[in-house]
Amino acid sequence: MRVLLVEDDEMIGHSLKEGLAAQGWSVDWVKDGLLAQSAWADGDYACVLLDLGLPKRDGVEVLRHARGRGDTTPVLVLTARDGVDDRVEGLDLGADDYLLKPYELRELLARMRAVIRRRDGSAHSVIGNTAVQLDLTTREVLVQGERSQLSAREFALLHALLERPGAILSREQLENRIYGWGEEVSSNAVDVLIHGMRRKLGPDTIRNVRGLGWRVAGPAQAVAAGAAP
Ligand code: CA
Repeated sequence: MRVLLVEDDEMIGHSLKEGLAAQGWSVDWVKDGLLAQSAWADGDYACVLLDLGLPKRDGVEVLRHARGRGDTTPVLVLTARDGVDDRVEGLDLGADDYLLKPYELRELLARMRAVIRRRDGSAHSVIGNTAVQLDLTTREVLVQGERSQLSAREFALLHALLERPGAILSREQLENRIYGWGEEVSSNAVDVLIHGMRRKLGPDTIRNVRGLGWRVAGPAQAVAAGAAP
């Protein structure tokens, strides 16, 4: 999945980018508020990690701008500011959660999963329909009682489709969800990925709609975390 990292501190940015990439995230990193604004408007991110003290435009302003245009991407504010006012303002403006620096990567990852789940409309860590269930914590997928482990990219792709069961997502929409900037994406990368997933999950899990894209069957059905066998 793709994440937008907005952080002007080189050391923190580098270590976060590396840590997240090691967990399979595609990370787009920007270092000032204006770049953050344009990247956010252009990209399709599962989550935005937002520092507040930024050059050119304050993080609070970046957040206000995004929410003002109706963007609902989950936002985790990362801040060294210990001022309660800043955090309250961030939350009032629509940040989903915040973390005070310094924090541990493990906690950051857990909070990212939590805000993404909440956006998916589920307090549980499993989303899916009647045919396929995806565990957002373990990246395991359950199809007709068969459990499989997905790669980071397979997970990002299936997550994108399961967010809107029944909806057709185009190649470009899927690429935007899976790959970050500067990643070499061959023209048939999505096809290759889906081909591999069909072999793993069965031919009917992800359906091709000729000339338009791919979809999973709808409608959505929230699945309790404990319900899967
Ligand atoms: Ca900063």
